[in-house]
Formats: sequence, structure tokens, C-alpha cells
Amino acid sequence: MCLYGELKRELTVMTPRQEHAQAPATIRPTVSFQETSALRRPAVFLDRDGTLTEPRHYPSRPEELVLRAGVGPPLLALQHYGFALIVVTNQSGVARGLVDEAAIAPMHRRLRELLARHRVRLDGIYHCPHHPDGVVPQFSVACSCRKPAPGMLHQAAGDLGCDLSASWMVGDSVCDIDAGHRAGTRTALVGPQPLASVVPTLYRTTTAQALTAIAACEARSSAARCP
Ligand SMILES: [Mg+2]
Ligand SMILES: [Zn+2]
Repeated sequence: MCLYGELKRELTVMTPRQEHAQAPATIRPTVSFQETSALRRPAVFLDRDGTLTEPRHYPSRPEELVLRAGVGPPLLALQHYGFALIVVTNQSGVARGLVDEAAIAPMHRRLRELLARHRVRLDGIYHCPHHPDGVVPQFSVACSCRKPAPGMLHQAAGDLGCDLSASWMVGDSVCDIDAGHRAGTRTALVGPQPLASVVPTLYRTTTAQALTAIAACEARSSAARCP
């Protein structure tokens, strides 16, 4: 069931037009923006490679995914505070012919298993398999989901009912921070040094430190004092 949901969401990202064309007509309730915003939950959007997991060169096997040190406890805290935890990952290796599209799902099952050891449950995993200069025709397109485009964050927020303005995007690259800015989230940059080309809401050396800072901010229950 969960797997189906995950695959369905991933397919939605890959082929939004097709998915929407097949969606049944729905009746939308008439509520104001403020009402809908109040009902939405905040999210922490997480880049995968180099942020949630150790950096690897186009990983294509489940065992290549290794959680970064210390991310379990702050992710669990954020989950308890009501944050949706959502992975948004560029996987251009698919378009480049370096990663089989069929390898993605087993890798993300592994990611869920690794986090489950810390009692952390991901609410969604979204990947972009595209790149305009790829070699696999099916995926070699300019898309709206490859970060820094905000497509995956918008898709997830719609699917899972997230308030982007109360959310965070955590990542180790310029494209992650830009995607967060374009989606209207706060942003946390992680890495050995700040990057000159972006100004994130906060910067920390490690992912664990960044997630701990976000959790500490929420623990004070004082949104006005949070960055
Ligand atoms: Mg990364
Ligand atoms: Zn894409």
C-alpha cells in the first residue's frame, strides 16, 4: 500500500499531464486561503544525496545509500512536532543512462528502512529523473521538477497538504536553496562552507546540526522567533 502510494507519487512527478488527465473530477470546497493555510501542515523537504545520505557519484544500488551521521534524532523530533518529512531528489543519472529507473524504488525502500531504525517515517519521496542533455530520450527533457525548479515541492505540498511558508528546504547545493526560495520555504544549507551565490535562512556544517537547529526553533513554540 505504502509502496504503491510512493510509486504513484513518483509517477505523478514524472508524468504530471498524464496523471492529471486520468484524475477524476472533484468538487472543491469553498474555503478561504487563510482557512486552507491553517489546515495545512509544515514540511521539511530534504535533498537526498549529500544531505540525508552520504554523497555518492550517481548511486544506483540500495546499499550505496548511507544516512548521514546524527540525522535520526532531529528528524524524529521534527516528526513529533508535526512536520511532514519529504525527500525531493534530482536523479539525472536516469536521463544520463547511468541509473536504471527501475533501481529507484528499491533504493527508496532501503532509505525508508534505514530511517525506520530511528522510528522516522518519510511522508513522501519525489524524484526527478530528467535532464535536458540526457541520453535516454524518455527522460531527456526540460522539466518543471528538476531543482532549482520548485515542481517537486509544489507537487508534494499539493499531494500532502503542506503549508510551504511554514516549511523548510534542507540541502547541500545551490539548486536546493534556490528551489526552496522559489517555492516560498525557509532554507537550510549544509556543507563544509557557505556558498557565495545563495543566502539561506540558516547555514550549518552538517545536516544533523541544521535539523537540530530547525527542531530547536520549533520546540520554543515561538514561530516569530524562528528564522
Ligand atoms: Mg545534494
Ligand atoms: Zn524532472
